Amino acid sequence: MFVLSDIHGNLPALEAVRADAGSLEDAFFCGDLVGYYPWPDEVVDVARKKDFIGVRGNHDEALVIGSSFGFGGEAGEAIQWSKGEVSDRNLRYLEALPYTRSEKFQGKDVLIAHGSPRQPIEEYIYPERVNEQFLERQTFDPEVLLLGHTHVPFVKEVGDALVINPGSVGQPRDGDPRASYAELDLKAMDAEIHRVEYDIGRVEEKVEEEGLPVGLAKRLEKGR
Ligand code: ZN
Repeated sequence: MFVLSDIHGNLPALEAVRADAGSLEDAFFCGDLVGYYPWPDEVVDVARKKDFIGVRGNHDEALVIGSSFGFGGEAGEAIQWSKGEVSDRNLRYLEALPYTRSEKFQGKDVLIAHGSPRQPIEEYIYPERVNEQFLERQTFDPEVLLLGHTHVPFVKEVGDALVINPGSVGQPRDGDPRASYAELDLKAMDAEIHRVEYDIGRVEEKVEEEGLPVGLAKRLEKGR
């Protein structure tokens, strides 16, 4: 199975991941379909049609509740713009996304949250924070924990549990501009991060065309 997160309306990146993965059936999704980039409706279309097993992120939440509260200038501007782009049907899809999801897949307890299980919308969990104490503080005890929000990919084994952040499809922040996603083997309890090149220039053009902040496109080249 595949794990995707933080697509942020970046359709060229999502298309590259789809081509690389071969299929996105049964994909887990850790939040933030929208925000930043100019294809929010098309990206939600893919998530809805492929039936992603997903949760909502802070940008999805901002769009759904109709506020850009808590967002910096560029992120807030992009959310305001995206609001006019998402169809009613896709808005209802975003509204129905839960904060966390806990289900059994192939016999394993899988828990999905954007930030953390305790604070699904707000908390940033970087790899160095993921240890036994972190897991003990959570109210759930999953075998596999899937997180997003930081845009920094990692795969970490903690005791018997596997904790994964697949990184960001649409806006990587670990210095590598290639789109990031994870391939998860639940039977073997093993995961691998994949990176895929895509046409950043196409995003830059569309960002300019739509009058979105140019800085949003420029940061893609640096992976920051
Ligand atoms: Zn994000």
